[in-house]
Amino acid sequence: MKIAVFSTKAYDRRFLDAAAGGQHALDYIEARLSLQTAPLARGAGAVCAFANDRVDAGVLTEFKSLGVHLVALRAAGYNNVDLAAAKVLGVTIARVPAYSPAAIAEYAVALMLALDRNIHRAYARVREGNFALEGLLGFNLSGKTVGVVGTGRIGAGVVRIMQGFGCHVLAHDLRPNPVCLEAGIKYLSLPELLGACDVITLHCPLTPATRHLIGAEAIGQMKRGMMLINTSRGAVVDTAALIEGIKTGAIGHLGLDVYEEEAKLFFADRSDDVIGDDVFERLLTFPNVLVTGHQAFFTREALTAIAQTTIENITAFERTGRALHEVT
Ligand code: NAD
Repeated sequence: MKIAVFSTKAYDRRFLDAAAGGQHALDYIEARLSLQTAPLARGAGAVCAFANDRVDAGVLTEFKSLGVHLVALRAAGYNNVDLAAAKVLGVTIARVPAYSPAAIAEYAVALMLALDRNIHRAYARVREGNFALEGLLGFNLSGKTVGVVGTGRIGAGVVRIMQGFGCHVLAHDLRPNPVCLEAGIKYLSLPELLGACDVITLHCPLTPATRHLIGAEAIGQMKRGMMLINTSRGAVVDTAALIEGIKTGAIGHLGLDVYEEEAKLFFADRSDDVIGDDVFERLLTFPNVLVTGHQAFFTREALTAIAQTTIENITAFERTGRALHEVT
């Protein structure tokens, strides 16, 4: 089948080509999917889209008229898809439900360690010939209390790693994970968790209930000077409230791999641009804030698994009319 692959980077091409093994005709398109670019899918039976592509009613209507019956997301999250419109129009939506939880769990811990020991600052200093240690003082993670919000596939991985570090791990979730309960993890309400932890790491999905879950009120309930890590979705935190929390010292360290307005910034080289987002730019001015551009998933293992499941979804749909992992 011919597949129009939107938002293609060189790495997508490499891993999708390897997974497809010549089975499908992959038409790589660099442009992000939008109403303007959707007609580029003409002649394709399926579209492959990424996390920041907009699969809204207008795009899906265009696909329907072009004869595109499948949108295979090379991502787990589908908050960018109008599922109701897809259902009405008869366009199947497929995703990659789990590719490499360890990739994201390990990355959350990498942010914790980097911030705690000021590795981001030490790296820059040493390159300038500055070997002074003032300002780089950290703390031992061993013995500290770490709170995990959302103990699904990724959160449970973080729980395991932090237990290995000798931390006291607490959790908050709507549905406690039996594996974590078995490992002796205590579940608390969110305010209780916020008040008890030295480090909080977020691993819940973005839903109406979790939008701005960490805002001014939650920051007021936190242990003063705590560390907050977000590798879930940008809008789970209220970025403006976090900035106030950093300024008052309520938040002692902040690690973000995702950002509410990231669709306008991430996954592109903007080093020659004047960035117009003042909230994002303010974040970058703090010494105790570390921001990365949505790269927690970016490992060889994760990209291999994403490409394989995406191709399996498309092949199954071509053969049977059903994808392996449909979103309903
Ligand atoms: P999962 O579905 O296995 O686990 C999510 C957990 O969050 C579940 O246990 C669920 O009960 C819990 N949850 C849902 N609503 C909640 C709420 N209101 N309060 C507390 N807990 C709640 O998902 P996962 O595979 O562990 O992924 C978690 C999130 O990580 C994804 O939704 C995605 O947004 C994000 N993610 C980020 C990257 C990245 O590269 N930064 C990559 C993959 C996934």
